[in-house]
Amino acid sequence: CSNCGHLLTKDELPLSVRRWQCPSCQQANDRDINASINILQHADKVLTHQ
Ligand SMILES: [Zn+2]
Repeated sequence: CSNCGHLLTKDELPLSVRRWQCPSCQQANDRDINASINILQHADKVLTHQ
């Protein structure tokens, strides 16, 4: 989850599910947008440590 950092298992979030609600913070997420945010945050972390 891009909001609270909660990680979902493959059982909780099958590939066919495009929209889901975080069981931890209850935020509604779109899986593609959520993935993009996670990648962006990771890239930001990598780039700022160079
Ligand atoms: Zn969450």
